[in-house]
Amino acid sequence: MTSTVTGFQTADPHRPDVLVTAHEPADVVAAVRTASDRDLPVTVHATGHGHTVGRVGGLVVATGEMRGVAVDPTARVAWVEAGARSADVVAAAAAHGLAPVSGSFPGVGVVGYTLGGGLGLLGREFGWASDRVRAAEIVLDGGELRRVTDGELFAALRGGRPSVGVVTALEIGLVPLRTVVGGGLFLDVADAAAVLPVLHRLAVEAPESLGVSFGVVPVPALDVVPAPIRGRTVLHVRLVDTSGGAARAAERSVRAAAPVLLGGLRELPWTESGTIVGEPEVPHAYEGTNVLAGEVPAEALGGVVEAARTAPVGCVVDVRRLGGALARRPEGPDAVSFRGAGWIVRVLSSTEGCSPDDVRRAHRAVLAPVAESALGRMAGFVYGASPVGPAELHEPAVADLLTRVRAEYDPAGRFA
Ligand SMILES: Cc1cc2nc3c(=O)[nH]c(=O)nc-3n(C[C@H](O)[C@H](O)[C@H](O)COP(=O)(O)OP(=O)(O)OC[C@H]3O[C@@H](n4cnc5c(N)ncnc54)[C@H](O)[C@@H]3O)c2cc1C
Repeated sequence: MTSTVTGFQTADPHRPDVLVTAHEPADVVAAVRTASDRDLPVTVHATGHGHTVGRVGGLVVATGEMRGVAVDPTARVAWVEAGARSADVVAAAAAHGLAPVSGSFPGVGVVGYTLGGGLGLLGREFGWASDRVRAAEIVLDGGELRRVTDGELFAALRGGRPSVGVVTALEIGLVPLRTVVGGGLFLDVADAAAVLPVLHRLAVEAPESLGVSFGVVPVPALDVVPAPIRGRTVLHVRLVDTSGGAARAAERSVRAAAPVLLGGLRELPWTESGTIVGEPEVPHAYEGTNVLAGEVPAEALGGVVEAARTAPVGCVVDVRRLGGALARRPEGPDAVSFRGAGWIVRVLSSTEGCSPDDVRRAHRAVLAPVAESALGRMAGFVYGASPVGPAELHEPAVADLLTRVRAEYDPAGRFA
């Protein structure tokens, strides 16, 4: 019998022959052993936030119920099970004045996020989430549960998402953090020409404590939406700062450039960091892609905004300044590619009622202004069936590492 597995992404769900909902590592071991015995391909599903295309047949291990988190405040580490959401780890760590290097959305799975690098809101200060992985527990083909703390498999799991097994838990380092100054400012996209040069300068000159990003968001004309932005396409400027002063100064510069329709900064506990970008929590069908770019001029960002504003299909854009600790190699081996990127430019569209060709054409147009500086793409931000070449996801040295790791740990291609 075929089951259907859906999560945050509702398009093209997995339809496996065997669906195993795991509650503990022993369930994962038994599931993988069964798959190995019956020669079935294995796919992992946690929350579906990073879902690309549906697997038909084979065995799916659903890890979303394995949400345990244990914090060791003295060692400043958390043991995070495969299905724990960002909000679970943020809450457990906050009880000790600590925080993970978490991203924008509380519902994302920490293990999937971290295996793919994990771009946190405070990445410029604290690096990639995968830089802080201290240990991983993984079930390999045949059902062997192994703890890894060094070697090539460990390196591959730190940002390379090698797909050679089911990770049952990660041990991740935490940072001391209680509050930040952060928030979002909504401006009319028609003011982009005045705002973007200011924002570009702020981002390029920002201290590492300051995270700078902006979105282009076509806001629906719904009653639940605050009147000042209802039915408008807005520029959503997001600022987050562990020191406070830099974000306050940046807010003043943005307000001096153009009228702010809604929003503002405040001091907030990290447990409320999901409000900074404020992504909607409603599962839907979407396709998305991105470009990790070197340095790009303000004019190129203007081109991105203009292409999104005028696109024939609704395009949500997210542009984040990188650099700082994201550019530095961590202690120990890892598999994050394109650390030299200064920016990531993402685009995402709902695919409900749109043809995939129209969506992909619009996404190419949105990313065209930064194509010249493109270094590659980040796998965790490629959604749905959006086309991506394997050479785009990893630098050659990382691609070679992943090839060796797959040959050694998953020669049958069970998790490919
Ligand atoms: C609204 C939204 C906001 C986001 N914000 C950020 C952000 O701020 N920063 C960022 O870096 N990313 C962000 N992402 C991207 C997200 O981190 C990735 O898509 C990530 O892969 C999601 O992991 P998941 O487990 O939640 O999703 P799933 O779709 O369940 O898993 C995605 C993939 O991760 C792998 N995987 C998951 N769990 C395991 C496991 N236990 N063992 C082996 N492989 C596994 C599998 O290959 C799986 O196909 C965001 C995504 C969304 C939809």
